[in-house]
Amino acid sequence: MSNKLVLVLNSGSSSLKFALIDAETGAASLTGLGECFGLADARISWKLNGEKHETQLPGLDDHHQKAIDVIVGIVNEMQVEDRLVAVGHRVVHGGERFAKSVRIDQDVINGINEIQDLAPLHNPANLMGIHAAMAAFPALPQFAVFDTAFHQTMPPKAFTGAIATELYEKYGIRRYGFHGTSHYYVSREAAKMLNKPVDESNFISVHLGNGASVCAIHNGQSVDTSMGFTPLAGLMMGTRCGDLDPGIIEFLMKKGWSQDEIFNTLNKKSGFLGVSGVSSDARGVLEAMEQGHEGAKLAFDVFTYRVAKYIASYLVALDSLDAVIFTGGIGENSLPIRREILKNLKLLGFVEDEKGNEDARFGAAGQIAKSEMLGAVALVIPTNEELVIAQDCVNLM
Ligand code: ADP
Repeated sequence: MSNKLVLVLNSGSSSLKFALIDAETGAASLTGLGECFGLADARISWKLNGEKHETQLPGLDDHHQKAIDVIVGIVNEMQVEDRLVAVGHRVVHGGERFAKSVRIDQDVINGINEIQDLAPLHNPANLMGIHAAMAAFPALPQFAVFDTAFHQTMPPKAFTGAIATELYEKYGIRRYGFHGTSHYYVSREAAKMLNKPVDESNFISVHLGNGASVCAIHNGQSVDTSMGFTPLAGLMMGTRCGDLDPGIIEFLMKKGWSQDEIFNTLNKKSGFLGVSGVSSDARGVLEAMEQGHEGAKLAFDVFTYRVAKYIASYLVALDSLDAVIFTGGIGENSLPIRREILKNLKLLGFVEDEKGNEDARFGAAGQIAKSEMLGAVALVIPTNEELVIAQDCVNLM
């Protein structure tokens, strides 16, 4: 264990994920999750030295602070206070102001506050985590790492919506993109795997988890990505619809649907869940499909077809391609989904390496296909957003 431990916090409206990361080795000596905040069932669980623990959080409010108090207790028991050098916060939206990770001060807090309306569910929750951690660790520097920051290099042709520029000027409506930390990490790892300088490489990174996005990365910089003004855009996801004809919203409103009903459906009842009628979880959908469930098969087909369409379309953003990179829970583990996406890309010359595809699962990286035509490979690289956050903190110090 090195002398540079960073407590990484990912604070949601009703949850708090945390990890104690060694910024040099990437080892996580402690990982945990607080959940059901605001409910009587609020609790926090964690894994320390391979052992699982859980405790209830009392009361009905202030659960972010109560969870952080529990984390302080654990860190004290681990006797690592002297090696804990920083707290790193994942912040969902940095707008146009934050194109890089920053040390948190009052000015940064004000900045995150000011762009709250861009991420009304996420940024206030992130701020709750920041305030609780600043109270608990007053002597430690705190840093914010933004999900949108990596995509701030997108050119105007990629981030501008085909709408009146007034909407951009007045409200900041444009493509921001998310999952930046993950796309950043896997592109750096891919360059290492291929023995190429990252600033002379071209990748299409495909993050497939509960949320999903594709990113075109030219010379190490994001030049286009499929999530947009919000994380609802782009690919089909666990419960989100992805790209959708905006005319559907008007149609449903005329049918008497309220704004809440429409957006609840598009955010929480669509994607794998909506199409399959079985589950938002890819594993549940794959199991049902194997048993002959037609909705599950349709969800599988729609999902894999859309991912392939995005990959093919992102060739437009690049001069050449070194690798398509699969990551996220589905991208790192699901052999049949990766296989189907590659099959859909046959016109680009991708030929699966079946053994490679079988081996690159459950935490193992590897090459799973090759296209002689493009001179490119397909890789699987497990993402590690916590490590990027920890390293950013240490680098900024
Ligand atoms: P999040 O976006 O919440 O971080 P993850 O990256 O953990 O999510 O991805 C969750 C998704 O990964 C779920 O749909 C889950 O079913 C899928 N997944 C995890 N393991 C497997 C597996 N072995 N096979 C297929 N899908 C898997």
